[in-house]
Amino acid sequence: MTGVVPKDAAAVILLRQNTDPQNPEIYWVKRSDKLAFLGGYHAFPGGQIDAGDAEVDVRNAPDAVTAVMISGAARELFEELGVLVTHGGEALTKGQRASLLDDLESGRMSWPALLKHYELYLDANDFTYVGRWVTPPFNSRRFDTWFFLVNCPPKQEPHVIVGELQEGEWITASDAYGRWLRDEVVAVPPTLHALRTIAAGLTPDLVDRFFSLNNARGEIARRITFRPNYICFPVRTPTRPPATHTCCYLIHTSKEMLIVDPGSPHEDEQQALAECVDDMIAEGRRVRAIVITHLHPDHIAGVNVLLAHLGGNIPVAAHADTAAALTDIQVDELIADGDVIALDGDPPVNLKALHTPGHARGHLCFHDADRGALLTGDNIVGVGSVLIDPPEGNMREYLNSLARMRALPNLSVLFGGHGPAVAAPYRKIDEYISHRLEREQHILQAVREGATDPKQIVAKVYTDVSPKAYAMAERAVLAHLDKLREDGLVLVDNEIWAPA
Ligand SMILES: [Zn+2]
Repeated sequence: MTGVVPKDAAAVILLRQNTDPQNPEIYWVKRSDKLAFLGGYHAFPGGQIDAGDAEVDVRNAPDAVTAVMISGAARELFEELGVLVTHGGEALTKGQRASLLDDLESGRMSWPALLKHYELYLDANDFTYVGRWVTPPFNSRRFDTWFFLVNCPPKQEPHVIVGELQEGEWITASDAYGRWLRDEVVAVPPTLHALRTIAAGLTPDLVDRFFSLNNARGEIARRITFRPNYICFPVRTPTRPPATHTCCYLIHTSKEMLIVDPGSPHEDEQQALAECVDDMIAEGRRVRAIVITHLHPDHIAGVNVLLAHLGGNIPVAAHADTAAALTDIQVDELIADGDVIALDGDPPVNLKALHTPGHARGHLCFHDADRGALLTGDNIVGVGSVLIDPPEGNMREYLNSLARMRALPNLSVLFGGHGPAVAAPYRKIDEYISHRLEREQHILQAVREGATDPKQIVAKVYTDVSPKAYAMAERAVLAHLDKLREDGLVLVDNEIWAPA
């Protein structure tokens, strides 16, 4: 298995004091749009375990590992929301807690030193362990996160402190889950599972219900529902690092579904996807089509196997330029710019196709205006970067496509061909555009300073990439040079580039 090794982390699901056990309130946060990992997502406070977490006095813990996780959970809760769940220091005033937090945040005192200094300790009985979830390997950052249910101590009120979080609020678990159902938030499976579980009430079997999914015991979730009606099913593919997987999307209503980019050539992955599709068919859906966003192997390698599995009677749909370039796959339906695919069922899904060349000539994106969702294929990805490799790739067309995507109103989520969904769409598209324009300026400057070929330009401009990526970078430079030539800013003669 490829990918990064998950790091230990802990998170806290904070329950409000004296909350209604039939309709409990929890504290959830919105992560900052700026964060590289799950920026803009709704989640619970938490983070990575620190080396110092092991040095804290945790009483009544069943074992040393649990003690460390509890210590990390308590520290994150304190750092992110200012809530301190300790014993021995009950007499601490609000002002004293604020000064402790300042000591910790400023680095004047470490977490273990601070607790020791104020004669505080943690009690494992305050932290109910409710599961351990591992980030799937299609993310560039991965965590093995222990979740704890914690009652907010009396006379303490959480408030969002650090720049990592954007917002926080008390909300009933059922309202929070309702907001996800109404497409108002983006969340990962452990968050959604916790909300659903708590929404059913603080019953005696609460903890058992938390563990009703194997994913709560560290088994990696395959179906990822960042938003309703869109299952992201990442499949392992020989794609471009740091990406290791391609996101296959199962866009569905109660009656119909589309399968977008079944891209894995690996038998085990094809089988896992087929099982998921079979389950969805068994629930009463029919497969309307297999849709291809573009011609690259990591997006199409599983098409024929899936077709055979489904009995062959499913149309394959793609743009005409993609259909013309494919030799092994028979495209039955052509999708043109502006075409709408309407999925019948409850609720209906309407996807408008956008022909967005640049990464590939026949590249398609799909816009769901009712939900503010955009399927971006390889034009925007949640992990890694997008390669523009001429002649299939074209920088001018790519920038035009990005501008077109940027102009769509009310986007709230991007589903890319690799990595997790993007919950801050406009920020991400702007980042992509400004990154390309900046590169272009640097390349133009390099030519003006005497660089005459892509190799020399890469050496001057791509100082931030590893030499292993130079060959790819030269392709991207060529794409920029072609655009600059069309713009009348550079000339080329016999593969020697010069300022115009
Ligand atoms: Zn691609």
